[in-house]
Amino acid sequence: MSDRRRDGVEVEVAIVGGGLVGASLAIALEPLGLRVALIEGVAPQADSQPSFDDRTTALGNGTRRIFESLGVWPDMLPQAAPIRRIHVSDAGRFGFARLAAADHDLEAFGYVITNRVIGGALRARLAGVAGLELRMPERVGAVRPAGQGLELALESGASLRAQLVVAADGANSVVRAAAGLGAEIEDYGQVAVVAHLRASQPSDGTAYERFTPNGPIAVLPLADGALGLVWTLSPAEAARVQALDDAACLAQLQQAIGWRVGRLLQIGRRNAYPLRLTRAETLVAARTVLVGNAAQGLHPVAGQGFNLGLRDAVTLAEVLAEAQAAGRLVDCGAAELLEAYAQRRRADRDGVTRFTDGLVKLFGDRRTGIGAVRDLGLLLFDLSPTAKAALSRISWGFAGRTPRLARGLRLGVGGAAGAAAGFGGPEREP
Ligand SMILES: Cc1cc2nc3c(=O)[nH]c(=O)nc-3n(C[C@H](O)[C@H](O)[C@H](O)COP(=O)(O)OP(=O)(O)OC[C@H]3O[C@@H](n4cnc5c(N)ncnc54)[C@H](O)[C@@H]3O)c2cc1C
Repeated sequence: MSDRRRDGVEVEVAIVGGGLVGASLAIALEPLGLRVALIEGVAPQADSQPSFDDRTTALGNGTRRIFESLGVWPDMLPQAAPIRRIHVSDAGRFGFARLAAADHDLEAFGYVITNRVIGGALRARLAGVAGLELRMPERVGAVRPAGQGLELALESGASLRAQLVVAADGANSVVRAAAGLGAEIEDYGQVAVVAHLRASQPSDGTAYERFTPNGPIAVLPLADGALGLVWTLSPAEAARVQALDDAACLAQLQQAIGWRVGRLLQIGRRNAYPLRLTRAETLVAARTVLVGNAAQGLHPVAGQGFNLGLRDAVTLAEVLAEAQAAGRLVDCGAAELLEAYAQRRRADRDGVTRFTDGLVKLFGDRRTGIGAVRDLGLLLFDLSPTAKAALSRISWGFAGRTPRLARGLRLGVGGAAGAAAGFGGPEREP
């Protein structure tokens, strides 16, 4: 503490952005006993919290494990709908594929929960995190080098110095720009219209993904018997659909998805999200790391963005914990630690980004002949146990090293703080 004062550094880690990923990271760091600040621009209970909105998120089994370890899963479980089956089809073509979790000895491929519920559970847990300074609502305006750290200029006029600044501030990250890190941005020319639905047929836990000329449509099971809709359209079509009354909107949607869920009866509030791929050129700069959407914002087609971002967060916590256990955690912003984080994230990040982007492009390509290739692909996929097993693995983490918390293992923290706050329960591998 006295060293920190001498250096003018007030916290070891400042997390900018208290959305789904930043909030999870703040909880994951608890066993390390570090001084951490979480700075979020929107007040915790505000209806406008952009990360904790009405969207539904499909959480893979790796994510469930991480949330169990962080102690937030019991609060989410009553409102989590298991995905027991996946059905993929291509509008106007014969190919389709079906997967059943039971065939892979899984209880479920994943769980669908609304972001508001995930946010509520994270917020409740954050309130009890020892050593965490919560600054909400507070926005970071600028970041600049200062002594042995970085100084965050806050929009309230205050400032804060940290050894390490974590950019968890979303796809338009201020921290990423301040660190001079560029990002490749590809506009998909698509908008996702998101809403909750009610249909005449009770859900059997099937998640439907239907590829149409306008883009993919996902219909996901929800715990209260409703369905979560992610309807991808061209910007012009999305604007037209948004202007329709509920009955006309349901009629158009019914035509697009068919009758697999029965008659569509009701649609709730519709929100629209323009879709683009944002990919930072690198994950680290001086005393700065990127996590979640600040690192990569993906198309929602495969439901991977948050799952991937959470693995960023817990990998960073793991790298710091390992250094602490080895007695090497003198400076959380040390270049070798940040490099270890970037290196450990490479394969997972590249794999998920390529897979998601490839899926958008393969099914978005309406050239003659490509549809037949897709039919064949779906058919072979439907028949091939190996391909299905590979897809079911996505639920656990894509490639490369799976973070310890996603494997149900503790972070491996040394010292009294680790022993006191070490969550995770008994050690177990999946
Ligand atoms: C339609 C749709 C469906 C999706 N479905 C899935 C799915 O099924 N599965 C899945 O895994 N992923 C899904 N995703 C992706 C997922 O929503 C994102 O990956 C996730 O929200 C990223 O969280 P984040 O915390 O990194 O960023 P964000 O959610 O963008 O949060 C960033 C936070 O930073 C705050 N902030 C921003 N700037 C500042 C500043 N200057 N100072 C302080 N605070 C700041 C913001 O207020 C916000 O709270 C979907 C996305 C969309 C659009």
